[in-house]
Amino acid sequence: MRRDLAIDLGTANTLVWGRGRGIILREPTVIALNQRNGDVLAMGADAYAMIGRTPGHIIADRPLRGGAITDFETTARLIKLLLQRVGVSRFNRPRVLICVPSAITMVERRAVEEATLQAGASSAYLMEEPMAAAIGAGLPIHEPIGNMVVDVGGGTSEVAVISLGGMVTIKAVRIGGFDIDAAIQAFVRREYSVAIGERTAEELKMAIGSAYPQTEEPKAEIRGRELSSGLPKEVLVSAEEVREAIEEQIGAIVTAVLETLTECPPELTQDVLGTGMYLVGGGALLKGLDARIAQETGIKVNLIDTPLETVVKGAGVTIESFDELKHLFADR
Ligand code: ADP
Ligand code: MG
Repeated sequence: MRRDLAIDLGTANTLVWGRGRGIILREPTVIALNQRNGDVLAMGADAYAMIGRTPGHIIADRPLRGGAITDFETTARLIKLLLQRVGVSRFNRPRVLICVPSAITMVERRAVEEATLQAGASSAYLMEEPMAAAIGAGLPIHEPIGNMVVDVGGGTSEVAVISLGGMVTIKAVRIGGFDIDAAIQAFVRREYSVAIGERTAEELKMAIGSAYPQTEEPKAEIRGRELSSGLPKEVLVSAEEVREAIEEQIGAIVTAVLETLTECPPELTQDVLGTGMYLVGGGALLKGLDARIAQETGIKVNLIDTPLETVVKGAGVTIESFDELKHLFADR
């Protein structure tokens, strides 16, 4: 058996699946660079720990932040490091299937393929994330039935309806968890005159953030820096405040779902009405996002276990039977 790999190159997290082995790597999509000499200092969790803590000449960066490749050089390095870390070398040249956000351009796609080949892959295939997500969710994508997935990631949210092995309707917006974090940061600054880091905002979101009223609405204490004095300060924030702070971002995600439904052929919408849509990606873990989407669309929203792994699982399933499923790849 060849050591084929499947990669979910997400805006927030990168996961790698080894054929016959399952998930073999899971790291934040972050790279730390020394700007003076271009050296790579760290990637993944080590680089994530540096965000907001670097001296001037070091940058800890998310090269796919907005779902587009903002910096190809850095992305290529990241792919190289990733493949090195899972044992790709001149002597071990696997076939690699990479899932990319569907928002990236044709030029960016080629660039990802190129980087994968340069990093030692014997061949590189791309698959659109919503397709992988649908496979990972176990949906019958080959049937003449509308299968709807909503993937809320860090930098993007992608909504797709798939039938007969192809994407019929697809909508990708550059709004996701990062934007929700930024909205929380802006809220705390505006309302309490306290600056908090993006990681603190993310922690607050995970602790008490929600998109729909919850039965338990706890408060949380967060630490930041008071703008006037510049000194550390703690503030107590309520779940309701956080929900209001992120309303615009949640609204944009819901709008993308609604637009996809209205653009989708009516027969397929009928199918989706019957089965419900599937919510995946880290954003699926935001409390009440399922209830909110269900309320606004009138359609059932299914949550699945481990939504952060759905895309890589779908890509993994695909490489487990690489040759039969090759026709699903974006570039043939
Ligand atoms: P991507 O595919 O773009 O890499 P992921 O699917 O890995 O993104 O999701 C990452 C996003 O999910 C981050 O913005 C993160 O804050 C968010 N997230 C993860 N866990 C939770 C949670 N428990 N509640 C709310 N958001 C979460
Ligand atoms: Mg993703």
